[in-house]
Amino acid sequence: MNLKDIKLTNPYLELPKLCYEKVNPSPLTKPFLIHANDEVAKMLNIDISDHNELTQFVNGELKLQGADNFAMCYAGHQFGHYVPRLGDGRAINIGTVINEHNEQYHLQLKGAGETLYSRSGDGRAVLRSSIREYLMSEAMHGLGIETTRALAIIGSEHGVYRETWERGAIVLRVSPSWVRFGTFEYFAHTKNFKELEALADYAINESYPHLNDEPNKYLHFFSEVMGKTARLMAKWQSVGFNHGVMNTDNMSIHGLTIDYGPYAFLDDYDINFICNHTDQNGRYSFGNQPRIGEWNLRALMLALEPLVKREQLEKVINNYGRLYSRYFLYLMGRKLGFDEVSDKDFNLMKQLFGALESLHVDYTLFFRTLSHYTSERKELLSLCLLHTPMNEWLDEYDIRLKENRSSTKERHERMLKINPKYVLKNYMLQEAIEDAENGDFKKVDALFTIAQNPFAEHKEFERWAGKTDDKFKNLKLSCSS
Ligand code: AMP
Ligand code: MG
Repeated sequence: MNLKDIKLTNPYLELPKLCYEKVNPSPLTKPFLIHANDEVAKMLNIDISDHNELTQFVNGELKLQGADNFAMCYAGHQFGHYVPRLGDGRAINIGTVINEHNEQYHLQLKGAGETLYSRSGDGRAVLRSSIREYLMSEAMHGLGIETTRALAIIGSEHGVYRETWERGAIVLRVSPSWVRFGTFEYFAHTKNFKELEALADYAINESYPHLNDEPNKYLHFFSEVMGKTARLMAKWQSVGFNHGVMNTDNMSIHGLTIDYGPYAFLDDYDINFICNHTDQNGRYSFGNQPRIGEWNLRALMLALEPLVKREQLEKVINNYGRLYSRYFLYLMGRKLGFDEVSDKDFNLMKQLFGALESLHVDYTLFFRTLSHYTSERKELLSLCLLHTPMNEWLDEYDIRLKENRSSTKERHERMLKINPKYVLKNYMLQEAIEDAENGDFKKVDALFTIAQNPFAEHKEFERWAGKTDDKFKNLKLSCSS
């Protein structure tokens, strides 16, 4: 369907007025299209072949039928401290598309100017952070991890000041839900319980419609959010993804990865890795993520107390650790190529993590290499500083593999579809960003290709499949974006 024929809806605007502020985007000067996502266009049933029109649309200049633009209000715990009001300070919602499968996607322009919630910010996003979000959300999707996505990214000549003058960009983000844990916190902390209940009904309808007729539906709602969060945390850990800013305003009620900031994929396995330069105490370190998932769920739980009895919510959250472990065990069992997995495999996994850490082994490359493993160990050992701990682990692994009924060939095929050859490491993104800042977007295109299909061989991009050069390992990024 052509952009001009689309009729948008605005379900969020049926909520009480305190939930949002109506605001129009402020376009960037001299916008140009950097990349468009054909898969997302197809999912939305939008024809994006006219790039001029698409650019105008992403720049907020082309208003579609039914568009009624707004920013959402929310609060949140940032690094453990409650901030009474945050909200979409630089994201403007431009309407909702319902596709032929009756799926609903909300469109949002990130970097489209100031809103009521901008506080001291300028409502803008710079090119580097926009490229990071655009590519990474697609990479997470490619890995089978729940995430928001993006339809397109535009650059511009619009000056935006951070530590120095940079250029503004806009990403058109797409999601089945933009409701955050912090959205609930806002109404609970301001004691606006009517709004809180309306929001809970809205979120149930949007993300968990099967709960609509349940008695005690708010309790079930919390339980489902907990389940999705536990699963998301297990998925992040299994691929070695460090989000970096797990504030409650960056936690999705729908269980999606949202708001990509200073994130990173692990280079060498390191449980204590911190990707966020400003996170000096490592609150959001790689290894802390599952625990922070629980901490954030507890903040959500307190916000839901006006709607559900505390004891009932406590019973649900007390199950988080067990649920997380189940998901993690299952995912790691698959990465290791086991037909079935059981609690006794935890020991083998622990031993492996210990070896990977002490031997400074690249996390992604290890599992990809293991996906070709027969009994020949040379390649795996070449990834390790010392051979003995890895040989000891492989002895145990060989014994464990004998429990598989499937053939070695079947195991390899399965593992190659689970253990990616490529993840978007920070040094790769950095290369693409440096070129982009000089007007060359070829590497953005290339990284997009591998992001969408990280399990394919892509012989032409082989150099990105190896271990990270020492000088680029463990890059930390700041929140500035
Ligand atoms: P983030 O850490 O990017 O998720 O942002 C945290 C809060 O700060 C959210 O309320 C954002 O909308 C807001 N924010 C971040 N950057 C800006 C900016 N440049 N202008 C206005 N608000 C911003
Ligand atoms: Mg955020």
